[in-house]
Amino acid sequence: MDKVSEKPKGAGESNFQVSQRAQQIDDEVFKLALGLPPDVISLTAGEPDFPTADFVNMAAKRAMDEDFTHYTSSTGILPLREAISRKLREDNKLDYDPSEIIVSPGSSSSIFLLLFALADRGDEILIPDPAWFHYHILSGLAGNVPVRVPQRKDEGFRLDAEDLEKKVTGKTKMLILNTPQNPTGHVLTRDELEGIAGVAERNNIIVVSDEIYEKILYGNSKHTSIASLPGMRERTVTVNGLSKGYAMMGWRVGFAASSPELTQKMTSLLGYTLVCAGSVAQKAAIEALESQKSRDYVNTMVSTWSKRRDMVLKYINDNQSVMSIVAPQGTFYGWIDVSGSGMTGKEVSSGLLRDYKVGVMPGYLFGESGKNYIRISFATSDDAVDEGMKRLAEFLNKKRKS
Ligand code: PMP
Repeated sequence: MDKVSEKPKGAGESNFQVSQRAQQIDDEVFKLALGLPPDVISLTAGEPDFPTADFVNMAAKRAMDEDFTHYTSSTGILPLREAISRKLREDNKLDYDPSEIIVSPGSSSSIFLLLFALADRGDEILIPDPAWFHYHILSGLAGNVPVRVPQRKDEGFRLDAEDLEKKVTGKTKMLILNTPQNPTGHVLTRDELEGIAGVAERNNIIVVSDEIYEKILYGNSKHTSIASLPGMRERTVTVNGLSKGYAMMGWRVGFAASSPELTQKMTSLLGYTLVCAGSVAQKAAIEALESQKSRDYVNTMVSTWSKRRDMVLKYINDNQSVMSIVAPQGTFYGWIDVSGSGMTGKEVSSGLLRDYKVGVMPGYLFGESGKNYIRISFATSDDAVDEGMKRLAEFLNKKRKS
C-alpha cells in the first residue's frame, strides 16, 4: 500500500503535509509585515512610504516600449552591473569590476544564494542577536547552523568584537553583518568595524555585509563598508539593493559584490532558482543609480523620517515608565523595550493589534534578546506614526496599571 492510499482523506481535506524544513518557518512574520487588514495602523512593514521617483518610472516605461521584456542573463545586464560598479566606487570606496557583481531579485535573494554558495551543511553562521529574521531562517533552510551573538542595550546594540570571537568554533564559516542595523538602528563605527574585521581575519571567516540601509542615517552617523578596510575585500561580500534608498521595494533589484568565481557560482544558483531579476526593473535601476536626482530624492525621504523619528522619541520620552529606546542612528525603525509595561513584546504586539488596531512586530522574531521588545517602522505616514504611538502608549500604560 502506498503512503497516500494508507491515509484516505475526507472531502475538503488536503494531502499537503508540509516538510520539516518548512515547519521551521514562523508564519507570523508575513501576516504582520505585509498582510494586515486596511483598518489597522501598520507600523510593521519595512518599506519607504514614498513612491518610486517619476524619472525611474519613465525609464521602466521606455524599456517596455522598447520590448525589453524578456529574460536577461542570470548575472544581470552589463550596463546595470557597470552602474553598480560606479556606485560602489563613489559611495563606498570599493573597487569592483562588473564581472564581480551579480544582480538578484532583491538583496534578500543574494543572501539566500550566498548561504548556499559559501556554506556547507553543518557550517556555523554567526548572526547578531537581534538581527533581521531572514538571516536566521535562511541559514536554517540552507542546512547551516545559525549561531547568535548578543548585542546589548547598555552598549548601544553594537556588535562587540570580543563577544563575536567567543562564538567562533572550528565550524564557523561566515558572519552576517548589517549596518545600519534592522531592527536596532545601530550604525557600526569604523572602530567597531575594525574590531570585527580583526576577528574575521584571525579566524578566517567570510563576512556578508548587508548595507541596504546605508543611505538612511541621522545626525552625524556615517556609513562605512567593511570591505573598504585593509585586507577585508578578499573576505567580504557586500550586499545591497535599491529597495530602501531609492524607494523601489516592489521592483526587486539587489546585488552582491565579491569575486569573479563566486559571482559565477551564484549566477548558476540564481539561474536554477530565480532565473534573473526582472528586465524592466533592471533598466529602471540603472536610471535610479545614475541620475543626479536620486540624491535629492533620498534626502527628502530621510529628512521626513528624521522628523518622524523625533516624534517617536518624544512619545517614548513622555512614557518612560513603560517604554525605552536607544535612539536609532540609521534605518526607519524603533526598537522599543516594553518590559516596563509588565508584558512581553509578543503580548504587546497581539494585544495592540486586537484591542487598538495597531500592528507592530514582536521582538522575539529578531532573536532571543528581543523577547521584551517590539519593532516599529516609522516609514509610514506622519498621522500613522502619531496615532500609532499614541495608542501604543495608552495600551502600555493601561496594562501597567491593571
Ligand atoms: N536586508 C535587511 C536588513 C532588510 O531589513 C531588508 C528588508 N526588510 C532587506 C535586506 C531586503 O531588501 P530587498 O527588498 O532588497 O530584498
